[in-house]
Amino acid sequence: MPDSSASVSYLLKLGELTLKGENRGGFEQVLRRNARSMLKGTDAQLVATDGRYVIHASENASEKIEFTLDHLFGITGWAKTRFCEKTIEAVCKTCVEEARALLANSAGGASGGGIKTFKVEARRTDKRFPLESYGIMAVAGDAVLAGVPALKVDVHKPDAVITVEIREKAYIYADNRKGLRGLPVGTAGRGLLLLSGGIDSPVAGFLMAGRGMSIDAVHFHAYPYTSKEARDKVVRLAEILGLYTLGVRLHIVGFANIQIRIKENAPAAWSTILLRMAMMEAAESIARQERCKCLISGESLSQVASQTIENIRCTESRTSLPILRPLIGMDKESITRIAEKIGAYKTSILPYDDCCVLFSSKHPVIRGDPSEAAAYYEQLEIGSLIEEAVREREEKKRSFVERWHPS
Ligand code: ATP
Ligand code: MG
Repeated sequence: MPDSSASVSYLLKLGELTLKGENRGGFEQVLRRNARSMLKGTDAQLVATDGRYVIHASENASEKIEFTLDHLFGITGWAKTRFCEKTIEAVCKTCVEEARALLANSAGGASGGGIKTFKVEARRTDKRFPLESYGIMAVAGDAVLAGVPALKVDVHKPDAVITVEIREKAYIYADNRKGLRGLPVGTAGRGLLLLSGGIDSPVAGFLMAGRGMSIDAVHFHAYPYTSKEARDKVVRLAEILGLYTLGVRLHIVGFANIQIRIKENAPAAWSTILLRMAMMEAAESIARQERCKCLISGESLSQVASQTIENIRCTESRTSLPILRPLIGMDKESITRIAEKIGAYKTSILPYDDCCVLFSSKHPVIRGDPSEAAAYYEQLEIGSLIEEAVREREEKKRSFVERWHPS
């Protein structure tokens, strides 16, 4: 453990994991591995206690630790914590220290007025501790009242809650943060995300990562008809998503020739559906090579013409892999809120063309018939062009993404 004079500790709370019965050990193992991997480069040490994890590190690691805990799927919450030996005297003393620090930090804080009221909550996993939870709350509460006269008790609507947890040590904290919840990335296999430059697909990847999926991504561009900036934007989106998924391996596939083939050999109204069919075929080929178990897309029902249920059926006809569409029932506002929360929104709205806009028709087919779609698609004889595009794809390695830190 680092020198205690300049050290910090964090308590991590595991939520849904506790429901996983016999599998729990495996899920926890992945969670620990993910946390340690994200904390690489610091002196942070992660130790497991009953139903909680604790991280100890030196003070200068705190920024990276807090960044990690904000990006780690599988924890319901976390807190920067003090700890002390398990005597009521030590607990009281530490509660007073925590309350003083709270007051000092809040005085000039965003809330302006600072903290005026508090309550103490207590939980006792170690039943050998002589006081029950209620007794701890009462005695520690009195100690804070006596030691920090500026604070008053309010059990209903306190400005701050000081929590005491009696475990293998006594933990005391007031800084209670929400975690991302979900399941640890890497517990549900790998999925291949179709990543455009828009708002939706990074959110789709984030949501599936939250169900435990590792993420590879594929992006189709039409360089030189689309710009280098459009491609760079997608690399950046993959980097942002990678902060939650221990990196994303991004496959960048040139589709210009395919789009020209479609433009020259099929009715304009069908161009977007046919392009999406070709994307699915190429994505399936990459998924099989990279051992991805499914495709993930950002489609949302009826959001645009290509996403009516009829056109979705045409699109998916070129693959036999499951396609996960976590946004299918969500409206744009809810999707946008998540995009903002995960830090992708500002990049997503940068105004660069996606290849889908290129050659797209003003009057697209709205309810495509699958057999008609299949007939047009066959007529394109596009198989070898897709093989070539997949073979010549550019790959951004996972490790490249891991090093990125947002400005
Ligand atoms: P927007 O926020 O503009 O809707 P989007 O990413 O959802 O962005 P759509 O045109 O709605 O774009 O496309 C639906 C889905 O098809 C995307 O979410 C994505 O999964 C996939 N897709 C579209 N274009 C591409 C592309 N160029 N490369 C990879 N996948 C793509
Ligand atoms: Mg969309």
